[in-house]
Amino acid sequence: MNDGKLKEIVDKITREYIAELQTIPVGVSNRHVHLSKDDMDKLFGRGSALHPMKELRQPGQYAAEETVDLRGPNGSVIPKVRVLGPIRPESQVEISAADSFKLGAHAPVRESGELDGTPGIELIGPLGSIKINRGLIVAWRHIHLSEESARFWNVHDRELVFVESDGPRGCILKNVLVRVSQNYRQELHVDTEEANTTGLKNGDIIKITKYGGQTDEY
Ligand SMILES: [Zn+2]
Repeated sequence: MNDGKLKEIVDKITREYIAELQTIPVGVSNRHVHLSKDDMDKLFGRGSALHPMKELRQPGQYAAEETVDLRGPNGSVIPKVRVLGPIRPESQVEISAADSFKLGAHAPVRESGELDGTPGIELIGPLGSIKINRGLIVAWRHIHLSEESARFWNVHDRELVFVESDGPRGCILKNVLVRVSQNYRQELHVDTEEANTTGLKNGDIIKITKYGGQTDEY
C-alpha cells in the first residue's frame, strides 16, 4: 500500500470517528419507573425479575415488559407506566409536569438519583401495591456523553450547557445537565412534554452551543 492510500484510509476513519463524537441524537423519555429489588418483590412477587423488552441506547438499559400503575394523592391513576431496567438501589418515578398536576403531586425537577426531599407516590403492581416515601421527580433534562465525546465538546460531568436544534421549529434549551461516563453513549434525554414544546423528536441531532453553570445554582 502506498503512503497516499494509507493517508486516505486514516483520514476517512478519523472523519467518521469525529462525526460519531459530534452526533448527539435526541431520546424522548416517556414517563417511567425504576424499581429496587425490595419494591419489585412487593409489586411482582418474591424473587420476580424484569423481562427485557427493548434495549435502550444507553448500554445495559432496557424497557421491561413490566408496567405499574401510579396513584396520586388526589386519587387519580396513571395506568401502565413502563418499568425500565436494570433494578436500581432505590426506586424512582419519572413523570412529566402535567402528570404531576394530574396526580395532585408536587414532583420537583431533579436529576436522577437526587431524591432528598422529593415526594413519594403509590405504585400498584399485579401482586400488590406500595407507597414509596420519596422518589417522584420530573427528570432534569440531560445529555449522556462518553468520555471521548465530552472531550470533543470540551464539557465536563455535571456542567450545565445550552443545546440547539435546527429545522423549522429549531430551539435553544438552557440548563441541560451533562453526565459523563465511559458507560454512556451520547444522547440528549428530554421528556415528552419538553419534546412537544420544542419540536424535538427521537433521533433528531442537536449541538452543544454554550457552557457554564451548575445545578446547585437553581
Ligand atoms: Zn438519561
